[in-house]
Amino acid sequence: MALFKCKMCGCALDVTEAMRICECEYCGTIQTLPELDSDKKINLYDRANHFRRNNDFDKAMSIYETILNDNPEDAESYWSIVLCRYGIEYVEDPSSHKRIPTINRSQYTSIFADEDYKSALRYADAKCGERIDYLKKLEIYNTANTELSDAKTIYADADSSEQFDKAINCLEFAEKGFREVGDFQDSAERIRECEGLRTEYEARKNELEQLKLAAARKKKIIAAVVSAAVIFAVAAVCIVIFVILEIR
Ligand SMILES: [Zn+2]
Repeated sequence: MALFKCKMCGCALDVTEAMRICECEYCGTIQTLPELDSDKKINLYDRANHFRRNNDFDKAMSIYETILNDNPEDAESYWSIVLCRYGIEYVEDPSSHKRIPTINRSQYTSIFADEDYKSALRYADAKCGERIDYLKKLEIYNTANTELSDAKTIYADADSSEQFDKAINCLEFAEKGFREVGDFQDSAERIRECEGLRTEYEARKNELEQLKLAAARKKKIIAAVVSAAVIFAVAAVCIVIFVILEIR
């Protein structure tokens, strides 16, 4: 029996070498396990996971890379590197006490294109693959949710075309993310929300542009009227002078 710590809460797990998946009895997290075939590897994992739990992602990443030097087919290390790259922190939900993955490092590149993610899938067995697939979807979903709320925040204070564009851009990223994970959680509903908001934001942007155009036009008309008045006044003075000279 090896002593291995929970990836989420750091409590000790009772695991055997053959186990590939384990549920933590303290925080309830179901997690994949690396092949724990040497004490050195277990220690490295514990250190790396410790840094990752404390959001010291760069330090954690370098230890996972050390593990990979000796075990180039270790799916768990590849996956852990992906977690670090995306800055995944498992934050405890105060009401349910479940650990919710939260993203600290936004990446606009899709996780599908990530080389370490691909390696994790290549070397993972079926159960790990399933779990990884679920977590991956959850991360894409969470990123899309962040983009969606950013869009709403920017839109709330937007008073220029650039800001509307920024909000619309966030919405597009969000929608792309939700489409990527398709039927995961309430993605379909979110896609509809994004579509609705985009129509609203674009209408609001057009409205603002029309108002600006109208204001600019008004300014031009006033300028034209003023210059016409000036010309008229100058002409009137000239006529008066001419008339006076003629009378003399
Ligand atoms: Zn735990």
